Parts: sequence; C-alpha cells; structure tokens
Amino acid sequence: MRALLIGRFQPFHKGHLAVIKKILGEADELIIVVGSSQHRDAVENPFSADERCEMIGRALEDENISGVQIFKVPDIGDDYRYPGHVMEHVPSFDVVYSGNSLVQRLFSAAGKEVRKINLIKRKEYSGTEIRRRMTAGEKWTHLVPEAVVKYLDEIGGGGRMKKLEKGTK
Ligand code: NAD
Repeated sequence: MRALLIGRFQPFHKGHLAVIKKILGEADELIIVVGSSQHRDAVENPFSADERCEMIGRALEDENISGVQIFKVPDIGDDYRYPGHVMEHVPSFDVVYSGNSLVQRLFSAAGKEVRKINLIKRKEYSGTEIRRRMTAGEKWTHLVPEAVVKYLDEIGGGGRMKKLEKGTK
C-alpha cells in the first residue's frame, strides 16, 4: 500500500515525524507532498520548498527511515481541482493521511480513501507556534528533530524569522 501525506512543513517538526513513523507502520511506501511550494521568505512561509525538502530528507535519514519519496507541489486557486493537481505531480497512491479537514474533504470528494491523523501535542508541535518562538527568541529547538535544528542553524533560520517579522528581509 502506498500512502500520501501533504503538508506545508513550515518547519518540519516532531509531530510530522511521529506521523510519518505511524504511517509507515501501516503502509509500505509513503509519498510526501511539500505543499505551497511557491511560497518562501514570508512570515507564514519562511522556508523555500527546497529547504523544506532538505529538512525532511535529513530528518528521515537520521532516523534511518526509507521508502519515502518527496515532491513539491504549488497551490492552485481552485480547491476542488487540488486533488487532481496533486495527482498530476506524484506517482499513484492508495490512501491519503491528513489531520487537515479541508484536505480530508477534498480528497474524499475526489474518491480517495482518507485516514485521519490525530494531532500530537498540538499546542507545541505546531508550525505556527514554532515560528512564533523563533521570532520571539524563545526556546523552540526541542520541538523539531535534531537534524532540522542543525539545518536551520546552517541556513540562519532564526535570524531569517526575526528579519521577516521586522520587514527587513
Ligand atoms: P502542516 O505542515 O500543518 O501539516 C502537515 C500534516 O501533518 C497535516 O496532515 C497535519 O494534520 C499533520 N500534523 C501537523 N501537526 C501535527 C501534530 N502536532 N501531530 C500530528 N500531526 C500533525 O500542513 P497543512 O496545512 O495540513 O498542509 C496542507 C497543504 O495543502 C498546504 O500547503 C495547503 O496550501 C495545501 N492545499 C492547497 C489547496 C489549493 O491549492 N487549492 C487546497 C487545499 C490544501
């Protein structure tokens, strides 16, 4: 069975990693879609699609997780065409895993099997909360995999968030 997981991964955090491990306990293969791939260098979307692919790849390598393919997919203006648009970018798959109610609804309406994800530590394992902490200079490194901490340090992720918030990048 081949599964699909869509996310913005701004940034990739420990909740995402736990979900991937759970999915791979049920599926043989996993396709990860890095969504909103056209966005970068914005307060809500600080990291480029290539940077997000790199974070995910490094975190999975660190955990010796195989059987995962990663694809970048831009958003489109029409939600109802979104499942078909995703399917044009990725190999065939059997089931979509998501905790996002819009994604669940759209893929169900497109005839795909959808399995709901239960959020883990949702207040902390949250892209919004991690970005807020990075901008505020609060502790966030315990919320993302170690490989992502190292990568964000290499690309100056914390500094970028502060500049974006001030409008100086
Ligand atoms: P996300 O990075 O917030 O989450 C990715 C997945 O991980 C989701 O299924 C989410 O439920 C799960 N997750 C997040 N935190 C978790 C936690 N603490 N514990 C367990 N699981 C957790 O991404 P998202 O917002 O779900 O991404 C949806 C993507 O689909 C976006 O890029 C969005 O733009 C795209 N989209 C586009 C269109 C369009 O273009 N018309 C329509 C619908 C969705």
